[in-house]
Amino acid sequence: MDKTPNDLENKVALVTGASSGIGRATALSLSRAGLRVAVGARRLDRLNLLSDDAPGHVTALHLDITDAASVDGAVTRVLEEYGRLDVLINNAGLMLNGPILGADIREWKRMVETNLLGSMFAAHAALPHLVESRGHLVQVSSTSGRIASLGSGVYSATKFGISAFTESLRQEVTAQGVRVTLIEPGFVSTELTTHITDPAMRAAASEIGASMRTLKADDIAEAVLYALRQPDHVAVNGILIRPTDQVR
Ligand code: NDP
Repeated sequence: MDKTPNDLENKVALVTGASSGIGRATALSLSRAGLRVAVGARRLDRLNLLSDDAPGHVTALHLDITDAASVDGAVTRVLEEYGRLDVLINNAGLMLNGPILGADIREWKRMVETNLLGSMFAAHAALPHLVESRGHLVQVSSTSGRIASLGSGVYSATKFGISAFTESLRQEVTAQGVRVTLIEPGFVSTELTTHITDPAMRAAASEIGASMRTLKADDIAEAVLYALRQPDHVAVNGILIRPTDQVR
């Protein structure tokens, strides 16, 4: 049995939600590892800055994950430019925590369309190419995909949904050599909480962040790289990674 680590040199990856946080750190880390990387998000200016910082070739793509045509277009661009797709880091996401009572349901719609449906669109568009390359799909969920808590009902519902979808997909494609990894981070210091519109929830998130040694986006990038580096016969199906100081 081949025990040599997977040679990532020149493999082709698409990272969604790479304009900040975990996606940005992961894209840079993949570039350092020798992959050719395409990055997608709505803030193209940020993606262009990322391309400048990356050691290898990085292609910046405007991508709105909630729009199936935009997702298909981004995958097509990757195929046109590189001729293959080996890795999808399905990471774009949004957290708009708040009470259910009296919620602005437009925020629910945005979360479901971004985190759940958008993530499904990306998996759907990439899958035929991942089957062809016997590639790797990395699904970014959350500890909120295992434990719901007060104020995170809808965000948690989207992340529980990602976990269910991921396990079903894993069973569907593993025999075709496609490896599927679910990443479940706890609290990571990124922009994620700054988009919360409920002032009390935003303050609470900021207090939680200040009360512990949080994870850094690079910590998640390293976990992703660990999964990708395993030899072909080893499928790391899940990585649950919390700050040591995070209890739940
Ligand atoms: P950030 O807010 O820093 O990053 C979110 C990324 O998603 C941005 O690049 C943003 O790009 C992108 N995004 C949002 N909406 C869309 C859209 N419609 N189309 C395309 N891209 C979009 O947060 P994180 O890095 O923390 O989050 C990344 C993932 O990690 C998310 O799925 C999040 O749920 C998950 N996660 C984060 C944790 C944390 O504590 N930070 C913990 C557990 C999981 P742009 O706005 O430019 O489109």
